[in-house]
Amino acid sequence: MNDKQLRGFVSYLIKNKHTVFSHTDEEGKIKIKKIDTGKDFTLCPKRPLYSFKKFFLPPCQKMMVLSDDETTLNRNPNEKIVLLGLHFYDLKAFTLINQVYRKDPHFQKKLRNAIVIGQSPIPAELEDYQKFEKEVLEHLKFDIFLEAKSHGKQESFRIFTGSEDGQRLLDDFGYRDYENIEYVGPVPKKGLGPINSMLIEKIKKSCGSKIWKELGEKCTDCGKCTIVCPTCFCFKIKDEIKKDEILRSREWDSCFYEEFSEISGGHKFLDTTEKRIYNYYDHKFVRIPEEYGMPGCISCGRCTEVCPAGIDIRAVIKRIIKEN
Ligand code: SF4
Ligand code: SF4
Repeated sequence: MNDKQLRGFVSYLIKNKHTVFSHTDEEGKIKIKKIDTGKDFTLCPKRPLYSFKKFFLPPCQKMMVLSDDETTLNRNPNEKIVLLGLHFYDLKAFTLINQVYRKDPHFQKKLRNAIVIGQSPIPAELEDYQKFEKEVLEHLKFDIFLEAKSHGKQESFRIFTGSEDGQRLLDDFGYRDYENIEYVGPVPKKGLGPINSMLIEKIKKSCGSKIWKELGEKCTDCGKCTIVCPTCFCFKIKDEIKKDEILRSREWDSCFYEEFSEISGGHKFLDTTEKRIYNYYDHKFVRIPEEYGMPGCISCGRCTEVCPAGIDIRAVIKRIIKEN
């Protein structure tokens, strides 16, 4: 599919009552915005600071209204949205969150109403973690995937479909030169692989070592890293009393906040920044891999970009490997 056909396809989706969100380039800043025509989006090697996570896990989501005579689940509008251009490593994050929330009706409803179109980054100026191999597609959740075929320019795309919805949309548009990829589950047969398995052991071994004390002294507990992280999925439940109703909602939470680990009676399990920052790494590189068979970090570097204390996750990992 060439660039013109792709833009025609996006215009076709918009005309057929899909609300399309994609990357826009605003003076070098990549943002995710609603687009009105097939001309308005950009597919580029840079990822946006804020990922597509908010479309499935909104920062604040109403869940339920309890009133005297009824209990109702909050009904969201059944708007069909298209998320266009998730980089394949953000698809890994999306696949992980989908695993975590596979039984959550709110998440799954949003998923049913969304068409996810992924992309391989245009192969210019890429870092190692961004290198795309087709084999990864069978472990990723998507409806349509665009593999950039040209080097350095957005000229043409090899098209893959990952769902019947994706196939149907392309067929209806009149484009049939695609290859269907069957999703075989999020975890490759080889499992986590040697690097991630080694990391599990190293992080466990590092518990209580001086690196966490040093990082605990630097970290400001601001929680910015968890807000931009596409794989962070923790939330808190909030109940508000409004006249004769109780509104229940869930909001993004951060394990860097003191109250995060507080239980009734006031005890906090993570009562120091040192414990909290160790917990963050332990969750991403030990507990998530052990529970879901995949790492809890896609190496996107967003957390490093926003950290006011200059904590660089890749440098931390390198140091843990070296010192343990
Ligand atoms: S690099 Fe940072 S922001 Fe990106 S997935 Fe890993 S922990 Fe999250
Ligand atoms: S962004 Fe940096 S300073 Fe803020 S909580 Fe995360 S690691 Fe700590």
